[in-house]
Amino acid sequence: MAPRRQQTVVMYPSFGVGHIIPMTELARVLLRRGLDVTMVLIERPFWPSDSGAATTRRVMAANPAITFHVLPPDPSPPDFAGSTKPPFFHTLQLLRRYNGELGRFLRSFPRRRLHSVVTGMFSTYAAEVAAELGVPAYTFFASGAGFLAVVAQLPALLAGRQEGLKVLGDAPLEFLGVPPIPASHMVKELLEHPEEDMCNAMVDALKRVADTDGVLVNTFESLESRAVQALRDPRCVPGKAMPPIYCIGPVVGDGSPHREMPPERRHELLAWLDAQPERSVVYLCFGSRGTLPAEQLREIAVGLERSGHRFLWVVRTPAGTDDPKKFLEQRPEPDLEALLPAGFLERTGGRGLVVPSWAPQAAVLRHLSTGAFVTHCGWNSVLEAVAAGVPMLCWPLYSEQMLNKVLMTDLDMGVAWEMEGYAAGRVGAEEVEAKVRLVMDSEEGRELRARVAARREDAMAALEDGGTSQEALARFLADVDKLRGQLGD
Ligand code: UDP
Repeated sequence: MAPRRQQTVVMYPSFGVGHIIPMTELARVLLRRGLDVTMVLIERPFWPSDSGAATTRRVMAANPAITFHVLPPDPSPPDFAGSTKPPFFHTLQLLRRYNGELGRFLRSFPRRRLHSVVTGMFSTYAAEVAAELGVPAYTFFASGAGFLAVVAQLPALLAGRQEGLKVLGDAPLEFLGVPPIPASHMVKELLEHPEEDMCNAMVDALKRVADTDGVLVNTFESLESRAVQALRDPRCVPGKAMPPIYCIGPVVGDGSPHREMPPERRHELLAWLDAQPERSVVYLCFGSRGTLPAEQLREIAVGLERSGHRFLWVVRTPAGTDDPKKFLEQRPEPDLEALLPAGFLERTGGRGLVVPSWAPQAAVLRHLSTGAFVTHCGWNSVLEAVAAGVPMLCWPLYSEQMLNKVLMTDLDMGVAWEMEGYAAGRVGAEEVEAKVRLVMDSEEGRELRARVAARREDAMAALEDGGTSQEALARFLADVDKLRGQLGD
């Protein structure tokens, strides 16, 4: 077997900044263990609006120790705009079609140099290519053990159903390892009829997670102990054992030097935070692609202003439509004066900062001035806040975020409260004001902060030598060596 220093982990993340960022963080962890890392990306010139493209380029430029390889553009890209199917359906098809290109690339390595292929949660088709080449294939699951437990039990739940889960409304779904999940809180695509193309494609991609040699989960055992236990329970996937689960997280950026933002803007923003009192700032940000309607932005503005608290708010240009194809739109930088109530920026200028489009989030959350986080509940955001000990107010928007909200607000995890209006699609100014005051001013708020601070301590302990996440990482590396030995390396 080649010495570890000469072995390459080929990472193949799913599309999107929320997948590429944590994969880059995992790459940094593996580089420190003496492995080489090549990250394979698919170019999407036909998806011009991908606001993540610019971010991805910055991530690439800022990580010279990782070799990035961009596969050639698809010769017959799907007509996203003209199709009746959601873009994500085509994305999954595309990932599948790319197996040929990926295989060609993997064959360019001497086989003994290939340590493993690590796929994203939706790019699991790649495991077929790895199997053909006799290379171990693992999934990096960039969400929590709770969602993974649900995913593992989903095929059994959907088997034989004549109707989509949508008909169940808010009725609770029971899964091992997580609190009851209202059916309406499942990933939107999974609510459709199980035979419907989008639902089918998503279930198929997720089902393949269990077919890989193991799953690296971005969580730590004590944060989600019930879900982790469920994943090891034979009842979780009847008739078929889950592969080994390695809870190696939190794998999140340490906030320095931030890699996704022009340095001058980063400095300006962090200098502003430096000038604020400790734990005084409410930070609001809705992930790498969350947007809110203009009317909702105005409600937030009114609520923040009335709360009297300091804030740092990332504002994006509203998508203008609810259509899933909104992600295809090219959105300009927001015109803050036009979007926010007249005079808001001047009136709150002394205590609030509105930043257009993007903030160096990991650094913001770790900054001592940050006191609370209004979040869309993307899993990276959740972990970044937990790792920084910052309590959250949940405002889920898309993907598995509503499910994450259920986990985060459940007492088992207990790191957040919810903005209740999200369910009806509108959070009023009164609720913004009331919840901000509650988390920042009240005794309950102090208790919530103390709970998240304890979670932060747990996270740090998990990452220390002898901690559960360090041990899981060591187990993963040993298991890959064993597997490579069996595969005849
Ligand atoms: N992010 C950031 N600045 C922003 C918005 C997002 O640095 O203004 C980062 C955030 O720190 C996280 C990732 O982008 O690492 C978003 O991932 P998440 O899972 O939270 O949400 P997604 O974008 O996938 O919905």
